[in-house]
Amino acid sequence: MKIHEFQAKKILKDYGIPVPLGRIAKTPQEAGEAASEIGTGRVVVKAQIHAGGRGKGGGIKLASSPKEAEEASKAIIGMVLVTHQTGPEGRKVEKVLVEEATEIKKELYLGIAIDRSQNKEHPVIMASEAGGMEIEEVSSKNPEKIIKVDADPLVSFSGFQGRKVAYGLGLEKPMIAELTGIIGKLYQIFMEKDASLIEINPLVITEDNRLLALDCKMNFDDDALFRHPDINELRDIGEEDPLEVEAKNAGVNYIKLDGNVGCMVNGAGLAMTTMDLIKMAGGEPANFLDVGGGASAKQIEKAFRILTSDDKVKAILVNIFGGILRCDRVANGIIEAASNIDLTLPMVVRLQGTNVEEGREILKKSSLKFEVAEGLYQAAQKVVSFAKS
Ligand code: GDP
Ligand code: MN
Repeated sequence: MKIHEFQAKKILKDYGIPVPLGRIAKTPQEAGEAASEIGTGRVVVKAQIHAGGRGKGGGIKLASSPKEAEEASKAIIGMVLVTHQTGPEGRKVEKVLVEEATEIKKELYLGIAIDRSQNKEHPVIMASEAGGMEIEEVSSKNPEKIIKVDADPLVSFSGFQGRKVAYGLGLEKPMIAELTGIIGKLYQIFMEKDASLIEINPLVITEDNRLLALDCKMNFDDDALFRHPDINELRDIGEEDPLEVEAKNAGVNYIKLDGNVGCMVNGAGLAMTTMDLIKMAGGEPANFLDVGGGASAKQIEKAFRILTSDDKVKAILVNIFGGILRCDRVANGIIEAASNIDLTLPMVVRLQGTNVEEGREILKKSSLKFEVAEGLYQAAQKVVSFAKS
């Protein structure tokens, strides 16, 4: 789960990591008032969306008075902000963070992520003197500019790891201890809150030589949210894909993608294989959808609705291996769904496994139009040709 910058900064502050003074505003008027309250004259107005790259997209503006802050907010609140992380459709801005403006001497990058390479799966601290830029870009163009320090939870975090980062960044003496402290606190947040990613980009050195977290992104492990009600409360459903939210509520795993072949599959492995085969057959999957091993007819119906409410979908592939989930139950779910929604899309069905004969019989007897495929690749080829025509 992702949270907003202002929420992440609140957590940083609670742990003693310095952040600028700020207020959240939902209207330009509130933004103006927030700027007066902050009372520093110069402020920065920042769009709050669950995506980075806001600066380049026009979602961050400096203002030298409350009046200017109000004007800047008029331009930002309500705008559809497009950044490299939002996709071309962008994200509507509902609120802004108004903060005291900072005089920046240098922008650094500091982050903690899970390192999945070499079967480690434990946190790695990353830092770079090329702050403010996308870390992916630094990583591909100047990998030598990224300092990485392993933080194995079995060993826990020690000061020397923080100092290694600080020396690597070429910091001056007093700031080394300060950064080491910040890294220790960041690691504590990461572990205590079950974060999966924390990025402070930029962590700045101010003109008066302080370290300050100017931006912050935090992601949390969805499967650990049950033990963090305080984090769960920060969820902003408005930032999530409505279909993905509906799927979550129905207990099916659905991730929207950009293609036009809708897939309904049981089991994550089979779902990924199905997507690969669609690509191999020259098509593009519209989604990843795993209805799970024990889906009910109702859940199948729900999954079908979710799948077909994406109007990019031009053809559907149902690929079910009946294990615990019996094929006849799948067939009933499809028929149920089709009778409730106007299903006119071409459909290819591949059923195998438990009660496959009964399942096919049920589908055959219905008025549904679909093609049966025996083999998996054949099914993929068929559905791709449907989607193309
Ligand atoms: P992002 O573009 O979504 O990552 O948003 P950031 O919060 O990282 O802001 C982008 C850039 O705006 C930063 O890298 C800074 O260069 C600039 N910026 C943000 N806040 C301030 C500020 O208070 N003062 C100044 N001078 N620049 C700022
Ligand atoms: Mn940033």
